[in-house]
Amino acid sequence: LVRNLIEAIDEVTLNLQFDGEDIVITGITNKSTEVRPGYLFICHKGSRFDSHEIASEIIKKGASFLVVEHPISVDFPHVVVSDSRLAESILSALYYDDPFNKLLTIGITGTNGKTTAAHLFHHVLKTLGSNGSMLGTIYYDILGEQKFHHDNTTPDAIEILKAMKNTVDRSGKHFVMEVSSHSLAMKRVESVKFDIAALTNITRDHLDFHQTFDEYIKTKLHIFDLLKEFGIAVVSDEFEHIVNKRVKKVIYGMSENSDYRILSAEIDKFGTNFVLKSRFGEHKCSINIPGIHNAYNATLVIASLCELGYDIESIIEAIKSFEGVEGRFQFIREGTLVGIDIVVDFAHSPDALEKTLITARKIASGRIITVFGAGGQADKGKRPMMAEVVCRYSDVSIITTDDPRGEDPEEILFEVEKGVPSGSPYLVIPDRKEAIETALTLANRGDMVIVAGRGHEEYQIFSDERKIPFKDAEVIRKILLKEYEKEKKRV
Ligand code: ADP
Repeated sequence: LVRNLIEAIDEVTLNLQFDGEDIVITGITNKSTEVRPGYLFICHKGSRFDSHEIASEIIKKGASFLVVEHPISVDFPHVVVSDSRLAESILSALYYDDPFNKLLTIGITGTNGKTTAAHLFHHVLKTLGSNGSMLGTIYYDILGEQKFHHDNTTPDAIEILKAMKNTVDRSGKHFVMEVSSHSLAMKRVESVKFDIAALTNITRDHLDFHQTFDEYIKTKLHIFDLLKEFGIAVVSDEFEHIVNKRVKKVIYGMSENSDYRILSAEIDKFGTNFVLKSRFGEHKCSINIPGIHNAYNATLVIASLCELGYDIESIIEAIKSFEGVEGRFQFIREGTLVGIDIVVDFAHSPDALEKTLITARKIASGRIITVFGAGGQADKGKRPMMAEVVCRYSDVSIITTDDPRGEDPEEILFEVEKGVPSGSPYLVIPDRKEAIETALTLANRGDMVIVAGRGHEEYQIFSDERKIPFKDAEVIRKILLKEYEKEKKRV
């Protein structure tokens, strides 16, 4: 009933225009394409579009009640609220009956590592017999029945709570989600409650959106305000000191104060082996993705599940069958045709590039050639920092185009190039395919080529109207097979 919903958003209500008979709400949405008769519609003012402007169209479609952020000129039952995104969170939780209370809910935030940790979490829980859902950057998986890509790492409150409700209704037990800083700022998870809220790290990214680094940190830490009464904060050691909220905190990492401490880690092409010390003793662990940062991602999952009462040995065993995540230190198998190690990696912030390149340095037998670029409409300050990091660890760096998103690609290249330390061998090749081709041509047997920045992504976004199919792994495969055919003919 509308009255129940209105009562719930009392704290944000400014003005209520509703005095008729109570109405039964048949659904809630904020998308004009989804409005059906009897729906409650929530208007938002977005950066590109303001749905208040189409209020009369929404009414024509049969909506029975509107939640708006500023007064509208139509005579129709509605409530004006101070924050329609917060109202949406509260209303969604109420409408879908707080489904998080019937699920084991896991929220993972951090600048890097969210996707890997979320996939690993979901994999381990499934391996241990739990059925559930996962929402993340690459795809959403609703009980293994629906798998689809969504443009947002974390969707809006209605979609989150609907997916949770769906999971509960079909007897799902767990719900793992990546929680982006955008979603925390936009109150998409505001009324969700988590059993585990995990923080991988906080380093430079998204400063376009969050204005300052302090603001970015504050936004991310808000996830710990969203814990259930007995919920647990799982935090990596380096960032533990910034989490000063009154919550049960479990620390993981390499430092002495870690509750789950990585003692020694060895990396090879096939993955990472490490010894983990915890109150359960010392255990040998392995994960099939190279990198100390992946020992961290694995330990995040082990720590969380141990605290929830799962048996440590079963968790460690389940991690062994994890096949990794597309575009996260992903070896392109066809590289063996030409004797080069080729890796596609999603790293697109200075810290992620550093983690990936440190890993590459440990396992590469020859030189490292890195192809990378920076995205448009995103934190500009990180551009030169990315070049500095890449040049520090690579023998040859090739700066190219990522997703310009409406910005002038040349201008982005120029800003990245500013960070190249003097004397570093580098090239600027705007066309991404040509840049990859050049890297593969420059590489000798035994060298490693890293193609960074886009991971699993399937399109290069030049502008809203211009998206070009481009998947790094596919482009690399095609180039290699062409080269291989040429070589075979020559022999
Ligand atoms: P996110 O979803 O947060 O972007 P991903 O798991 O997709 O994180 O990883 C993106 C990139 O960040 C990886 O390709 C790797 O280079 C780096 N990375 C992964 N895990 C970590 C971590 N725990 N700490 C730092 N960097 C990481």
